Amino acid sequence: MTSDLSSAPWRATVLTLFPEMFPGPLGISLAGKALASGLWALEARDIRASATDKHRSVDDTPAGGGPGMVLRADVLAAAIDAVDAGDRPRLVMSPRGRPLTQARVAELAAGPGPLIVCGRFEGIDQRVIDARGLEEVSIGDYVLSGGEIAAMTLIDACVRLLPGVMGKLASGTDESFSDGLLEYPQYTRPQVFEGREIPDVLISGDHARVAKWRLTEAEALTAARRPDLWAGRPKAPESGKKRKPPKITTGE
Ligand code: SAM
Repeated sequence: MTSDLSSAPWRATVLTLFPEMFPGPLGISLAGKALASGLWALEARDIRASATDKHRSVDDTPAGGGPGMVLRADVLAAAIDAVDAGDRPRLVMSPRGRPLTQARVAELAAGPGPLIVCGRFEGIDQRVIDARGLEEVSIGDYVLSGGEIAAMTLIDACVRLLPGVMGKLASGTDESFSDGLLEYPQYTRPQVFEGREIPDVLISGDHARVAKWRLTEAEALTAARRPDLWAGRPKAPESGKKRKPPKITTGE
């Protein structure tokens, strides 16, 4: 699967044993419309096309024994080398990788777009990861059956930050993780749902109070659910001390 690569300002090249999985969900809604209008391009390449033996094999048994199969270094290296990737970031999706963050997503979105290797089976021969300088990226502490859904996750997170994709309605600057906080709770009509009302402050029309409420909620949620993020927050400017988290008023 390949979209028009010639003019798009950002592109993702995915190396996979299952190119037919693409664009999949990336062809729908926000990312799909942006793909169709040329704001980004996607190229899914079949790793198996670089196999050289008559069985077109891409994997072999693990050195040292053990279950499963390992993606061969020579086949994957040939697949990588067949891409004219220039200085583009070269990633490999891996549960052993550094966890993907919104900050890394923003960096990748600001560049020309990555080449992404999707693993399968028990994993990939380490020598090709080392020899081609692949950056290992994890999307979380769980094991998927292949790198494709992880690659889609990374691409989707990048694409929505590309200029023109979200339009004027949203900028991506007021969202979870953009300022080290989870996002505050959102509400919309009806004003009463199963006896639960929208918090008064949000229908007060007082923008300063709304902003203060949102910040307080975001801080309380972050401290309760993500102590790791809360611990990394800057200290209060007046005192130089860590701020005490406010109490959650919604949802918990
Ligand atoms: N044996 C490997 C291990 O224990 O680390 C897991 C291999 S997994 C079954 C097959 C492929 O799925 C991996 O090579 C990787 O490309 C992808 N994958 C699985 N979990 C992932 C995660 N959390 N983040 C990114 N990629 C993942």
